[in-house]
Amino acid sequence: MKAVCWNGAKDMRVETVPDPKILNPRDAIVKITTTAICGSDLHIYNGYIPTMEKGDIVGHEFMGEVVELGSGVKNLKIGDRVIVPFPISCGHCYFCQQDLWSLCDNSNPNAWLAEKLMGYSPSGLFGYSHMLGGYAGGQAEYARVPFADVGLFKIPDFLKDEQVLFLTDIFPTGYMAAENCNIQPGDTVAIWGCGPVGQFAIHSAYILGAERVIAIDRIPERLQLVEKYTNAETLNYEKVDVGEALKEMTGGRGPDACIDAVGMEAHGVDLEYLYDQVKQAVRLETDRPIVLRQMLVACRKGGHVSIPGVYVGFIDKMPMGAAMNKALTFKMGQTHVHKYLPTLLDHIQNGKIDPSFVITHTLPLEQAPQGYQIFNERKDNCIKVVLKP
Ligand code: NAD
Ligand code: ZN
Repeated sequence: MKAVCWNGAKDMRVETVPDPKILNPRDAIVKITTTAICGSDLHIYNGYIPTMEKGDIVGHEFMGEVVELGSGVKNLKIGDRVIVPFPISCGHCYFCQQDLWSLCDNSNPNAWLAEKLMGYSPSGLFGYSHMLGGYAGGQAEYARVPFADVGLFKIPDFLKDEQVLFLTDIFPTGYMAAENCNIQPGDTVAIWGCGPVGQFAIHSAYILGAERVIAIDRIPERLQLVEKYTNAETLNYEKVDVGEALKEMTGGRGPDACIDAVGMEAHGVDLEYLYDQVKQAVRLETDRPIVLRQMLVACRKGGHVSIPGVYVGFIDKMPMGAAMNKALTFKMGQTHVHKYLPTLLDHIQNGKIDPSFVITHTLPLEQAPQGYQIFNERKDNCIKVVLKP
């Protein structure tokens, strides 16, 4: 089959690789119909994720049709149309039972490696390095899905791929980020980053009852997309002092909650330095974690700080004095996709939201390398790239 393989920083290639096979009774093989490039894939593309090896198949936002099932999967049949949450979760461990699916204890055979490198043991993710399980990803014609009885969700035929694909990751990620803000009637939520995750965080903040949303980015097209589909106010952080503006917009009090939908490669961070740190020790000691710093300072006393943006290793020079003395609540983490998916599918079915609004580029799988370049460089007003195997 054809698959998108990592071959080094900024070097994705479409290669011919062996088809995946059933390895365990709870596995399924999915023939992929649509897949997408995520902001998290850019960390891999740019070389910030250690323990990637040349030839690794990438991609964790994908959907398709079940073509083969292990003997232990009883709730699915060949031909089912399915979407695949990006975290790999067993469904039975302490964490899965608590609805904390992205913290599964049984899905990462290389947890020891992560423990050694980073001091904690994450669960497995599709297409996201050996440290996170070494699973082949879904930017390919086929993928093996472990724990398929809990890791595949059936989708009704009347919904298009483009309407449900983002339930695999970025829609629940934006939603969990907003839910982590404990939004109360009348609340103002400030959201840093208007990439795909930020866009869904904005919509979700409104779904969850925010009165006011303030969206922050510097890319005009992304801010315009926010203005086109929502009532959110926007700030271009290259044109205004974000801290001052937020203070002024909230009567001096600050937003009730702040969401970091940017992550570690925030504009302003010294990327060369960041890369060096990650490469050497998976230890991240930039003195310019600008978004986090701004959020801790901006957020109102007693407010919520929600971080879907991805960080790796260590972060230094955080204004912990402000965070502590303002009694901020921090919530963060990889998304518990399995938990949110049924509710969000309902919202799509009821016409409350059509997630396909973020798609700007649809390319054949063969053009994945161009897709990565366009998304990474934000060319052609790119917001979200979808690939068709
Ligand atoms: P993206 O790179 O397309 O979007 C990031 C946006 O942040 C860009 O529009 C950029 O202009 C903006 N930005 C950069 N610096 C900024 C600053 N200083 N202030 C305000 N905005 C700034 O990526 P995305 O797909 O939207 O993903 C965003 C983050 O979410 C990434 O770190 C990604 O890895 C992470 N993510 C997390 C999960 C999870 O489960 N927690 C899932 C998916 C993605
Ligand atoms: Zn993703």
